[in-house]
Formats: sequence, structure tokens, C-alpha cells
Amino acid sequence: MKEIKKYDVLIIGGGASGTALLYTLAKYSNISSLALVEKYGELGSVNSHGRNNSQSLHVGDIEMHYTREKAEKVKPAAMMIPEYLKTLNTQQSETILKKIQKMALAVGKSEVEEMKERFKEFEGLFPNQRIIERDEIQSLEPNITKDRNPNVPILALYNPDGHAVNYQALSESFVEEAVNYNRDADVFLNHEVTKITKNNETYHIQMNNSHVFQAQVVIVCADSYSLLLAKQMGYGEEYSLVPVGANFYYTHEVLKGKVYPMQDRKLPFAGVHGDPDILVPNTTRWGPTAKFYPVLEDGKWSTMGDYFKSASLGRWKAIKALTKIMFDRTRFLYFLKSASYDIPWIGKRLFVKNVKKIVPSISASDLRLGKGVGGMRLQRVDVHNQSLELGEGKIIGDNIIFNMTPSPGASVCLYNGMRDAETVTEMLGEGYRFNKQDMERDFILSQK
Ligand SMILES: Cc1cc2nc3c(=O)[nH]c(=O)nc-3n(C[C@H](O)[C@H](O)[C@H](O)COP(=O)(O)OP(=O)(O)OC[C@H]3O[C@@H](n4cnc5c(N)ncnc54)[C@H](O)[C@@H]3O)c2cc1C
Repeated sequence: MKEIKKYDVLIIGGGASGTALLYTLAKYSNISSLALVEKYGELGSVNSHGRNNSQSLHVGDIEMHYTREKAEKVKPAAMMIPEYLKTLNTQQSETILKKIQKMALAVGKSEVEEMKERFKEFEGLFPNQRIIERDEIQSLEPNITKDRNPNVPILALYNPDGHAVNYQALSESFVEEAVNYNRDADVFLNHEVTKITKNNETYHIQMNNSHVFQAQVVIVCADSYSLLLAKQMGYGEEYSLVPVGANFYYTHEVLKGKVYPMQDRKLPFAGVHGDPDILVPNTTRWGPTAKFYPVLEDGKWSTMGDYFKSASLGRWKAIKALTKIMFDRTRFLYFLKSASYDIPWIGKRLFVKNVKKIVPSISASDLRLGKGVGGMRLQRVDVHNQSLELGEGKIIGDNIIFNMTPSPGASVCLYNGMRDAETVTEMLGEGYRFNKQDMERDFILSQK
């Protein structure tokens, strides 16, 4: 039988973004009628799952493709997560976040020069970060210098205060806390939204199980699926998507912390780094690879049709924009090379070059492809300007918000939740309040 549930606010998607917003509204607003729906049987099982992302808290210190301006914005936004964890007990916070050293490594004369310039440009932004030379690199990460050609210069940007985050555990904790603050907040797992319509100022949200939810305001936090739901409602026609799929490889443990390479601003999704996997102890995980993979969800070819719809591949303008982006020489050659990483036997032998740049003693036979490990990074394309739009994006409609959240979406989920909470209370109108100042005091002004 059809069951109808009514709420003021409905959040679609139970990853880091949706759950951070639920927590924010439950703790800092007076909205009591609040629900979240998630299509799978557990929270954070898609891109927020630790096996599908790089588990990094991106603050902009070793992300060599960030400009100073971007790092200035991302740092306080991402550092809200460690501040949030201070509100939990030690046991809870230790399952979510591990402190870890991190480095960006420059190899060869031109990278070394670029790193020195970058360090100067970022002066004062990351007080604990410093430039280190070969000797210190050797004592902190001995496998970086082992078997390395001594005639090729190396340099590293080192920060002892990095963080590895289990974003799925974080999502679960947001929901637990949300329900503590607002006992009326409802969370429904195994509820997939199939259609959203609007009738008389009320949204009708159809589920796959014949239930219908009604809400005054809807926030879609479905990452790769957000644009699909937006397009079904006539929003987001200006966007297409480049589908960047990712795999990870494993070796025995050769690194103590996270080591990122220098990254090309044209290919921000391309930097293969190595780090300890917080879900698989005593290993080093290498990746992500970046391949053209026309689906919305990793490993699910059944979502290919949805990718074509999201990317508007029935429209000439979108095809033209996507072709222009994909056939840019640097990107095209990169995607071609990445595709070869999937070829049995040869793939490992080609991929190992990326690994050797960080740990020269690793050989192809040390690498093992992670099974069921990897996610989708769908990068937006502006079809009018034929340009690639990196990072998270948002479409704000009539009492509805669609969040598209590739990296660093998980790192900035609380900040994004704060921005959305403000918009949501404005949308609901008179009588609804969001205590933004309290949230800023708790998680931004408290940062050292
Ligand atoms: C390879 C890789 C590495 C990355 N590394 C990092 C990193 O180190 N640091 C970082 O900050 N970010 C990283 N990211 C990005 C990060 O994973 C995302 O920004 C983040 O997980 C987005 O969270 P989300 O909640 O928006 O999306 P998701 O975690 O994907 O959650 C969306 C949820 O919506 C649900 N959903 C979808 N459609 C429906 C529907 N119709 N009805 C109901 N529910 C629905 C899904 O089941 C899912 O649970 C990485 C991503 C990838 C792929």
C-alpha cells in the first residue's frame, strides 16, 4: 500500500554530504521535521566509503594543483572535521580519523624549482609545513631514497600534521549525533528516489518501494546521481560530465605517511600517490588511476544509461563540449595511457612507473590490483563555455538544491552542510532559524 510521509526538509543521499547536512540542521536549526533517504542498506557506501576514495583530508598544503586562493578557502572548510571530532569521545573519533604525516615530492630539476616557488607563494598559510631535502626525506620515508639515482635532485614539502579520514564512519557518526540532537529526525535506508515532482509548492518524492515522501525543501546530496535527478526536473542543462573512474593498487607497506607527487593543473585527478590504507593495515595503497569510464557508479555497467542521460549525450552542444575537453592533447594522451593500466599483465608494468617515482625499489610483481576498490569522480563540463569545472558544484532551484561533490567534497562536507543549512532555512521562510554563528564558533573560530 502507498504510504505518504510529510517533512519540512528531505535530504537525498546518505554519504558524507547528506549526513553532514542532517547533523547541521539537527544541531543548529529549529527545523524539527527532517528526514534523510539513502538507496542502499548502509550509510556512506558509495564514494564516501574508504575503499572508494583516497581517505585524505584535503586542506591544500600538498595538493600541488591548488592555487593559494583555493587553499585559503579549503583549509578552514576541511579543518571543521577535526574540530567536529573533538566533540566525540576518543574511541569514536579514533575510528574516524588518524593523524598521519604527509609529503609532496618533487623529482627532477624543474619540479624542484616549481616546488620552491610554490612554497614561497604559500608562505604563512601552513605554519607547520616545511621544505625538506634528501637527508631528511630519507629519515622520514626511507623507501623514497632507497635505490634512487643520486644525480636526480629531489625535494619535499612536509607536514607532520596530516589526517586520514574514514568518511563512511564519519557519515555514520553524523547520523548518530543528528538523532541525539533531534529525536524526530528520520533516516530511511533502502529507499531509492526514482522521481521528484512539484505540486502546489510541495515536492512529491517517489521511492522505488511505492512510498511517497512530501517535503517543502529538498536537498539532493547524491554526488554522481545529483545531476541526473536535476535534469529529470529541468535543471542543470548547462552541464555535461567527464566520467573519471578510479582503481587502486596495493603493495606491502613501504610508506609511513601520505606521499603525493607534483600535480598538473590540467589533470588534477591524475596524481598517483601512495599512503597507508586505514581499512587494510600493513599495506601501501597506490592510486587513484584515472580512466574514462562512462558510468555513474564504479563497477556498475547498469548505470551507463544514467551516465548518458546525466551527460546530455543526446544533445549536440554537450557532445561538442565533451569532445573538446576529452581531445585536449594532454588529457587525451593521459586517458589513453590510463586505459592501458587495465590490460592484464601489461597494465601493472605500465602503472609501476608512477609508483617508482615515489618508491624506486617497487617492481611490477609487487603490485596487486585492489578488487572492488575505487570510485567515480564525475567532473562537470560547462557546455556553453566548453570548459571543465573542477571541485564541488551546486545547482540551486526553487526550494531544491542539487550538490555535485567530486574531490574535495568529502573534506568540505561540514562546510557545505553549513552553507546549505543557511539556504534551506531561507527557503522555508518565517519561523525557521539556523544558528550559523554557533556553528562557526564551534568549528571554524575554534581552529588554531
Ligand atoms: C578515487 C577517489 C578518491 C577521492 N579521494 C578523496 C579524498 O581523499 N578526500 C576527499 O575529500 N574527497 C575524495 N574524493 C571525493 C569524495 O569521495 C566525495 O567528495 C564524497 O564522498 C562525496 O560525498 P557525497 O555524500 O556527496 O557522495 P556519496 O558518498 O557518493 O553519497 C551519495 C549517496 O547518495 C545515494 N543515492 C544516490 N542516488 C540516490 C537515489 N536516487 N535515492 C537515494 N539515495 C541515492 C548513494 O547511494 C550514496 O550513498 C575521492 C573520490 C574518488 C572517486
